[in-house]
Amino acid sequence: MAMHGSARCALCQWRKADECPADCHFRPHFPAGSQAFEKIRRVYGGNVVEITYGALPFPEQQARLAFLALEREADARIENPVMGSLGTVAVLEEQIRRLREQLASVEQKLALFQQQVALLRQQHLHPNNNL
Ligand SMILES: [Zn+2]
Repeated sequence: MAMHGSARCALCQWRKADECPADCHFRPHFPAGSQAFEKIRRVYGGNVVEITYGALPFPEQQARLAFLALEREADARIENPVMGSLGTVAVLEEQIRRLREQLASVEQKLALFQQQVALLRQQHLHPNNNL
């Protein structure tokens, strides 16, 4: 039996598989000692990698992005155990709400300023109209 030892990918090591086949779907994404796999395993369990891969319509083209998303979601869940990435979305939505308020306020001041400029220009052109 050919011993690959540490050549097994992180998923095959986690499954305690005897070998990691040369065409293992996970090897390119999760080499031995992969920190990404370790984070995903810790948060969601190692099975989620296979489940995610199995759910992809075009796994060969989509696996890299799907596994990157899993890793980022695991990061968010480690940072915010309650809300995960939804917590990040909530913070950004609040920032958007506040910035829209600021923009509305600035637009109001600008409109007022433009009215004053128009009024001053009118008075300057026709100084006797106010008498
Ligand atoms: Zn493998």
